[in-house]
Amino acid sequence: MERYADVVLPLAQPAYTFAVPEGMELAAGCAVEVQFGPRKFHTGIVWRVHERRPDFKRIKPVQRPLYDRPLLTAAQMKLWEWVASYYMCSLGEVMRAALPSLMKPSADSRERFADEEFRPRTECYLSLAPELRDEERLHEVFEKLERRAPKQYEALLELVSAGDGGGLPEGEVPRRLLQSDRAVLHALERKGFVRAAEHERTAERGEAVFRLPQLTPHQQAALDELRRQFADGKATALLHGVTSSGKTEIYIHLIAEVLARGGDVLLLVPEIALTAQLIERMERIFGSRVTPYHSRLTDRQRSETYLRLNRSEGGEFVVGVRSSIFLPLARLQLIIVDEEHDASYKQAEPAPRYHARDCAVMMARIFGGRTLLGSATPSLETWLHASGGKYGRATLSERYGDARMPEIIVSDTLRAARRGERHAHFNKLLLDKIGETLGRGEQVMLFQNRRGFSPYVECTECGWTARCPDCNVTLTYHKAGGRLVCHYCGHSEPVPAKCPSCKVTDVVPMGFGTEKIEEEIARIFPEARVARLDRDTVTSERAFSAIVAAFARRETDILVGTQMITKGFDFEGVALVGILNADNMLNNPDFRAGERAFQLMMQVAGRAGRRAQGGEVVIQTAEPGHPVVRQVVEGDFGAMARMQLADREAFFYPPYARLTTLTLRHRDLQLLRRGAVHLAAGLRRRFGRRLLGPMAPPVDRIRGEYLLGLLLKIESGASSARARELLGAELQAFAQHPEFRHIAVIPNVDPQ
Ligand code: ADP
Ligand code: ZN
Ligand code: ZN
Repeated sequence: MERYADVVLPLAQPAYTFAVPEGMELAAGCAVEVQFGPRKFHTGIVWRVHERRPDFKRIKPVQRPLYDRPLLTAAQMKLWEWVASYYMCSLGEVMRAALPSLMKPSADSRERFADEEFRPRTECYLSLAPELRDEERLHEVFEKLERRAPKQYEALLELVSAGDGGGLPEGEVPRRLLQSDRAVLHALERKGFVRAAEHERTAERGEAVFRLPQLTPHQQAALDELRRQFADGKATALLHGVTSSGKTEIYIHLIAEVLARGGDVLLLVPEIALTAQLIERMERIFGSRVTPYHSRLTDRQRSETYLRLNRSEGGEFVVGVRSSIFLPLARLQLIIVDEEHDASYKQAEPAPRYHARDCAVMMARIFGGRTLLGSATPSLETWLHASGGKYGRATLSERYGDARMPEIIVSDTLRAARRGERHAHFNKLLLDKIGETLGRGEQVMLFQNRRGFSPYVECTECGWTARCPDCNVTLTYHKAGGRLVCHYCGHSEPVPAKCPSCKVTDVVPMGFGTEKIEEEIARIFPEARVARLDRDTVTSERAFSAIVAAFARRETDILVGTQMITKGFDFEGVALVGILNADNMLNNPDFRAGERAFQLMMQVAGRAGRRAQGGEVVIQTAEPGHPVVRQVVEGDFGAMARMQLADREAFFYPPYARLTTLTLRHRDLQLLRRGAVHLAAGLRRRFGRRLLGPMAPPVDRIRGEYLLGLLLKIESGASSARARELLGAELQAFAQHPEFRHIAVIPNVDPQ
């Protein structure tokens, strides 16, 4: 009987069927090399092997298997299928995000297609010869060597002590971990004192007993509560704890339990350079058990990690960013999502536009494990589930030890201006406090949310502003290079000397970003050492670490920054945090603006006073009475949640509705408009008033293409599978429409 394999290729296409050559062993989840198109070779994943001959003529054969065992487990395949179906993309697009890039090479000739990547790395392991495992005999050898060959003596000593500590069988030690000279080790091997063996890399397992922190009674109660709820069958729980309350300590206890049982753990962290800090902290407790997975690994390291995990026997602990949900952890029992509210868990571009937190919740079901969501300021989606009893919940309302919550002071910018108490972008109050703090030898952080308020240039005479020729946005002024830059397409041009429109005056920078703040504060406090942390100064991992390390060593007095400074930093010396402009966060035209502003301000505030003396936070705003500002001052998450949720319910937004946006894109605006109206009409027939649009998005032209948007709002209680089915059918018809089929339509499910 002929056999066929449906193979998923890393393309935006459905699985494609190939013939399985006689005698080739293939199972679902295997990686294979296939030829697709006239001369392209790809890695594909076998999704199904069957005997139904497809109805096209030339059926190409599978070239060869690439790996000696399935690359995906059945549970992983279910996850891919769920992601593809829920986020409306192809399995091939999921494959692109899920597999390390070296494991899915594409090449235009067979010769160039190397399967090197699929070979598990081997290395040399050394161990004491069995004869020497006798205490007396070993002693003899040591004595002899000590006199005659001191170098060999030291090498043997190193090997014995390294082999003692490690948990590898037979006291094996990877050669690369030994300091001793290769030649010396080789001599010992020749004398028969040492055995060498070349085999697959195993994880170096340090001590199996982890040094766990002693929990405070509050922390212990929260941990017990989580354990009880998980045992009662809650698959997902929220750990809601103020900053610095010891959420991480609770994670550590839960992780240790799972590892001790031989289960796997995945700890997800937001996509920021800060992962290094957390990984270090985890390594201090779990040693070499920790497997990091983030954007700073090389491609090679990623595929090595993937393959090692694929062959693992369990007891793995991965700390990683969103794409690590796709790693092969066959015994996954616990997923922890730290800072679960963080928007970077959602991949915006390209497909799959998945949300790693939501996938983690789904994975608890697929893998039969538990998912813990941790945050000081949970997302309202999670909060509502926890309040309604769908998720378990535990709360930590106090900071650890003597650390107190900082005192938050609101400073009215309009009143300060009226009284002449405003210099540059600072109220006198904030400047006074900065002066005092610096006087005491303590540190200051200044937060400026650049989003929505980037510096641009304007003509004071006619109001002309510089805009990108290809995207409908103002260009951002970068003082450093004296240039105007488009943050959407990268277009850049010099600042014009005279206004190109009226030719009367010079153009001047308006608005303010972090760069401007840095310049002003350095002028006001000339003796202070000022640094800046934002996407422009952080050009590399090294640049980031250098800025952070200098601040940690107190070589910098004032750190100015964007969101980047808000997350998880633990700096002892920070006594004052200034939020320069709360208004542009609050007035962002986004239904999540209030929630996000609260989260951001609470996170920034949490940076102050991680110590006994407490700390101060100054919030500058033109609306000191704004409810969200009041809620931040009182640290009242519950009040914020109640108020925002009432609004969401009234205006039918998440978590009461599920949103899907459709973005249509084309160079010809007239065609695009007609297409959008056509698609909207079709969708309206099926969804009625749940469909909104067409409307122009905030940026309606990017790289010369026009954009139009549609928005679908479905009741949370309704079947989302049914809605996707109807939407999918409509999109398919649109993709085949004779006039509109060249219009790109990009669905984004649960946009952030
Ligand atoms: P969170 O994750 O809630 O922000 P952390 O777990 O980072 O809080 O704790 C804040 C600080 O307090 C850390 O420096 C941590 O080491 C310390 N800490 C918290 N709980 C304990 C504990 N039980 N024993 C020792 N140190 C603790
Ligand atoms: Zn542009
Ligand atoms: Zn002008």
